[in-house]
Amino acid sequence: MRILLVEDDDILGDGLRDALDMAGETVDWVQDGVSAVHAISSETFDIMVLDLGLPRMDGLTVLRTIRENHHDLPVLILTARDETEDRVSGLDAGADDYLIKPFAFEELQARLRALMRRRSGSASNILQLNDHVVLDTGAREVRVDGTPINLSRREYALLEELARHRNQVLSKDRITELVYGWGEDVESNALEVHIHHLRKKLAYPLIETVRGVGYRFRDASD
Ligand code: CA
Repeated sequence: MRILLVEDDDILGDGLRDALDMAGETVDWVQDGVSAVHAISSETFDIMVLDLGLPRMDGLTVLRTIRENHHDLPVLILTARDETEDRVSGLDAGADDYLIKPFAFEELQARLRALMRRRSGSASNILQLNDHVVLDTGAREVRVDGTPINLSRREYALLEELARHRNQVLSKDRITELVYGWGEDVESNALEVHIHHLRKKLAYPLIETVRGVGYRFRDASD
């Protein structure tokens, strides 16, 4: 998933970005509220991790602003132990969950997964892609007829995004944004190459090309 991390603390922000990156997620990190609102209005993210005490615009205002602009992405707020009131205001302003600093990284990961599950209406980490193929977002593993297949980090991210948007056509630009994030040099045919490898490894026809537009994940019933 592509995560917008909004945290002004250098050490925490840097550490979180690296840890999420190591875990295979696509992370973009901004350090103030104005940049967060700008990022949300110009790019596509799956989820936002939002600190409340931020320069230029505080986290609560960021949250209210993006909700007023009808951005419905899941938001997890990070608060200090003594900010009970802010936490309540945050949930009232449309946050989906919160974590109290300091927290264990594993808990952040588990909560992000839970938010993504809730969003896709699924109660488990297991996405059944068709009768043969299963995607396990907890283990970041894809199994074909019970056997785990070896996917690169990008291939996995790509498949997860397509599977989360089942039956929707995703444009190449949107997929590239979700899978790569900012500041990555993406070669012009990189996406096609990943799709090609992914199709070979999956063995079953799950990814459909929509000519001139992008790709669509086929419904399991096909
Ligand atoms: Ca802060």
